[in-house]
Amino acid sequence: MTNAEAFEQAANVLVGGVDSPVRAWKAVGGTPRFFVRGEGAYLEDVEGRRYVDYVCSWGPMILGHGRPEVVEAVCETARKTLSFGAPSPLETELAERIRSFFPTMEKIRFVTSGTEATMTALRLARGTTGRPLVVKFAGCYHGHHDGMLVAAGSGALTLGTPDSPGVPEEVARCTLVLPYNDIEAVETAFQKQGREIAAVIVEPWAGNMGLVPPLPGFLESLREITSRHGALLVFDEVITGFRPAEGGVQQKMGLTPDLTCLGKIIGGGLPVGAVGGRGEIMNHLAPLGPVYQAGTLAGNPVAMASGLATLEVLSRSDLRRQLDHQAAFFETGLVETARHCGIPLSVTRLGSVLGLFFSSSLPRNLDEVRATKANLYPAFFHGMAERGHLFAPSAFEATFVSLAHDEKILRSTLDAAREVFASLAERRA
Ligand SMILES: *Cc1c(COP(=O)(O)O)cnc(C)c1O
Repeated sequence: MTNAEAFEQAANVLVGGVDSPVRAWKAVGGTPRFFVRGEGAYLEDVEGRRYVDYVCSWGPMILGHGRPEVVEAVCETARKTLSFGAPSPLETELAERIRSFFPTMEKIRFVTSGTEATMTALRLARGTTGRPLVVKFAGCYHGHHDGMLVAAGSGALTLGTPDSPGVPEEVARCTLVLPYNDIEAVETAFQKQGREIAAVIVEPWAGNMGLVPPLPGFLESLREITSRHGALLVFDEVITGFRPAEGGVQQKMGLTPDLTCLGKIIGGGLPVGAVGGRGEIMNHLAPLGPVYQAGTLAGNPVAMASGLATLEVLSRSDLRRQLDHQAAFFETGLVETARHCGIPLSVTRLGSVLGLFFSSSLPRNLDEVRATKANLYPAFFHGMAERGHLFAPSAFEATFVSLAHDEKILRSTLDAAREVFASLAERRA
């Protein structure tokens, strides 16, 4: 079977042939690859072609595909159960392990996706404060529930308009969208409506518009302003968790959010999300409190085992150093290769996640990301894919390096990148 045949068959029964829109390659064009196997840094498609994988399932595969400790743990647990629908000690074990990395997550609730984690965090924030509004930043992605599918309007303080049909105006209006890294806009919003704002939710490094770092003082100011106004600060570390340090950006920067959302890595490739924070806030959740939240497969034992095994490996400091070293090598290599070819490329990096921007300066917010030469990306993407190196099928997604991406593999990608950058430079000339 070819990829084209697989896609055509899929499109007969699955909407657009995929179960998540970016997978359809709309932003870069062409036929998405259909995969049958993952091994270390590689994916194999239905045609038997192998690719070095820089998507890593959008983050969870931080150890690479088929890491033996994780596969063993999953198989061993699966032989005992696939699901209890009742408590198991594995949930306690994973929660304790997460809390040892994220001490601000005193109490934890497991869910099955990052979307559910942020949805629960915001319901909890509203339920605890009794306030209706939530502040988010343009270009930050917090999953696909109604209130978060709201993009920026013009101006600093814009009442949200829905990003998708099906999101009622009434719901969108409860989300204030502000520019990332713009603390004055946050001050203004709180001056005007501080008594109605339940929470500010933020990706402490924005990982869904490439990878945009916070300006010095931005996160600290968010902490100060929310505290002053009695609103909660929610860190969405679904991407950043375990990247710069075991305890995410909050550990690295010594910050204390009220609530933290995790996902992706904590399931090691199986569906898991988590929300956690101070006990006095978390205890508002059912069964202790009135804020309702539930899940048939929440805390699924096989997913817990996968997450535990993943975090176990990640807690080894020698391996974390190795991962960081590999990612740094790749970052330097990409920048130098592009410079050599005369291609404007700026790279950001948080541990093992990278942002690639076709621009000579680093963007600080969504407008500046949009102003980069993202139109070079589809040609870069296809040039790399033809050579067996698969990046995210959109200019605005992050690039992920796993423990399985050793220097030899990274070097082969840099060799391919040199050819592709050279052809991009020719085309631009
Ligand atoms: C991926 C992501 C989510 C949503 O997680 P899903 O598991 O896809 O629902 C939320 N927040 C951030 C920062 C993410 O990157």
